[in-house]
Amino acid sequence: MRDYAVARRRMVDEQIRDAGVTDPAVLAAMREVPRHRFVPRLLHHRAYQGCALPIGHGQTISQPFIVGLMTALLELKGDERVLEVGTGSGYQAAILSRLAREVVSVERIEALALRAAKTLEDLGCANVVVRAADGGAGQPEAGPFDAVMVTACPPRLPSLLFHELREGGVLVLPIGDDDEQILYRYRKVGGEPIVERSVACRFVPMLDGVQRLDGE
Ligand code: SAH
Repeated sequence: MRDYAVARRRMVDEQIRDAGVTDPAVLAAMREVPRHRFVPRLLHHRAYQGCALPIGHGQTISQPFIVGLMTALLELKGDERVLEVGTGSGYQAAILSRLAREVVSVERIEALALRAAKTLEDLGCANVVVRAADGGAGQPEAGPFDAVMVTACPPRLPSLLFHELREGGVLVLPIGDDDEQILYRYRKVGGEPIVERSVACRFVPMLDGVQRLDGE
């Protein structure tokens, strides 16, 4: 079976590093995680292209550059507990697992959550827990978190997720609608949000509720 090592190195050099994400730990993680394992087999040959790809259930694995940028914006040192909302394929969670102590990743579509958990287990990402749940309310029983990343797009800052950050913690997320979405970083300083604007982006919308395998 191909392991796509050459394509992966090129992806990181050309699409991530040369595009301005220079954090060596982020680049190393992206050189190691086999992105093709997170997309359907028929799309393996496209896994290292610079675009989002369909993963079923109307959802997508994010473009490699956005994964690199959002990860770098969290400025992880290695001992953090991280919450991800929007597991999708599990690829972003796999990257985070190499840069933080523990990752809790929440996905509202149960079938995707189960598949991502299996892929992460197969790849030995033992410090990731995937939960089939609506991430909009956060994971109060698992928090607080040092960092939160949202990889679906809400129309405004979900206050419950900001609430789950510990003091000094960082929340990275897109905010917007069908017309325009912007990536933001919120830092919790003295309990208040300090906001910085990053780039324009395009994510699937953040939706309410959990979609179980039986469609309920
Ligand atoms: N991070 C993913 C890509 C995210 S796609 C990856 O690396 O592949 C966005 C995902 O967010 C979708 O799978 C969608 O079902 C999920 N999602 C949308 N709203 C959600 C919510 N409220 N809670 C949890 N997951 C949500």
